[in-house]
Amino acid sequence: MTSTDHVHTAETARQRQRTFVPPSESYLPGVQDPAGDALLDQLFYATVDECPDPKCRPVLLDRVAGDVRATRKLVNWACWITSEVYGGLPEELVDEAAAADTVFCPSTTFRRLAAEYHNQGPSFDVVYDACGAAQRREAADNAVALVDGLQVWWTDFLYQ
Ligand SMILES: [Zn+2]
Repeated sequence: MTSTDHVHTAETARQRQRTFVPPSESYLPGVQDPAGDALLDQLFYATVDECPDPKCRPVLLDRVAGDVRATRKLVNWACWITSEVYGGLPEELVDEAAAADTVFCPSTTFRRLAAEYHNQGPSFDVVYDACGAAQRREAADNAVALVDGLQVWWTDFLYQ
């Protein structure tokens, strides 16, 4: 699965105060990709575990970022969970000035993708296709960090 000799799963992941469904269990219309979904779960649980292996998360992030569908599923999953937690998507995730005031400080790309999620606009595919791998990597990193942060801090995560 990865270049490392270990895996991260829901069963082995460290306990958090709350537990959200893994990315593989969120719904994305279109082509299904179980192997890609398993990769997303690995990245999420590696984040939850705060994996110290220098090759683990970076390799997983590279692989997710190389796949537009995987990145989109991950960001959608994070936006969906965040919307459930806050009763809507907080402006701290889409507005540049508001985001800058948070500890989380999401990337420009993540904010743009979150705004698209919020607007459910017809330009969704265009926005994703316009992102380079480095931007998708940032957004994927933000997505898993966001959900892990909510698992620990709940609604305080954006306002700690
Ligand atoms: Zn690891």
